[in-house]
Amino acid sequence: MRERKEKGDSGARGDPRVTRAEPSESGPGFAVCLTHDVDRPYKTYQGLYYAAKSNPGYHLRTLLRRENPYWQFEEVMALERDLGVRSSFYFLNEPSLLETGSLSDWLEPKNWVEHLGRYDLDSASIADAVRDLDGGGWEVGIHGSFRSCDDFDRLRTEKRELEAVLGHEVVGGRQHHLKLGPNTWRYHRELGLKYDASPGSSSENGFQHGYRPFRPFDDDFVVFPLTLMEVSLPDPGSAFDEAWAECERLLDEAEANDAVMTVLWHPRYFNEDEFPGYRRLYRRIIERALDRGAWVGPVADYYRTFLAERTDEESSETETESATAGDAGRSPSP
Ligand SMILES: [Zn+2]
Repeated sequence: MRERKEKGDSGARGDPRVTRAEPSESGPGFAVCLTHDVDRPYKTYQGLYYAAKSNPGYHLRTLLRRENPYWQFEEVMALERDLGVRSSFYFLNEPSLLETGSLSDWLEPKNWVEHLGRYDLDSASIADAVRDLDGGGWEVGIHGSFRSCDDFDRLRTEKRELEAVLGHEVVGGRQHHLKLGPNTWRYHRELGLKYDASPGSSSENGFQHGYRPFRPFDDDFVVFPLTLMEVSLPDPGSAFDEAWAECERLLDEAEANDAVMTVLWHPRYFNEDEFPGYRRLYRRIIERALDRGAWVGPVADYYRTFLAERTDEESSETETESATAGDAGRSPSP
């Protein structure tokens, strides 16, 4: 089955001061950054909503059995570990409708899906997942809640609460529904975040926002355009070849332009029963990118390795470290 696409595509940024980050001398050229927005790790009463729409038997069974088909952290980690790559996981801290919901919010069934699937960052299972990812070399970043793009205090709270679970600072993240306000990047920068990965679309894939990360303030804050969200593709469950053809076309274009291609696969799409074909498609993108010599890894690793402004001293330290310890990002040996 396919799920309703996320709305709220962010429009092109018209800021004339936007400058493209030039590929640095040490830059890798063609790169693929892997990301996962953790929107709803639990399939709970949303089952009733989906059951009303399609395949009621299946959805009611998973609901009644208390199975958790959206919990895919271990599967994603195993797949990526197998390929020798890591990725970014962005965690959402959506306020509950009980705290903030108006009556009109409650009357809108799609809000039930958002809010009944929400999770607490400090619950034991989520906190364990956050620490497992971090300890294993994955990036844990912030997935700013729906209204946080216009709310500095809310963003600050979400960043602080995620960092309390993580035990250290986060480098960057992406806004939920790719929703940006006129000041969101200023808020990010003021909070000490180094990057945002929101500009993009859930319905159209491609390089509409450019081939390279760019610097909206001409400083060390960088924006990574989103190239491909899984729901923009033909359903790989029924049209795998068509879906793959689109992915291959994007890889061709990225390689030809030394682009940084950023890919978003929501964790629940790794469940083969619910979303057949998506896991296989994701794996193939990574395999082919590595075959073509792309750098593949989490956004924060790309930022730190190629874009962070460093003093000469830090620079040589970092290079020594990455030469010995290896990066989460992986380029295959030639
Ligand atoms: Zn989201």
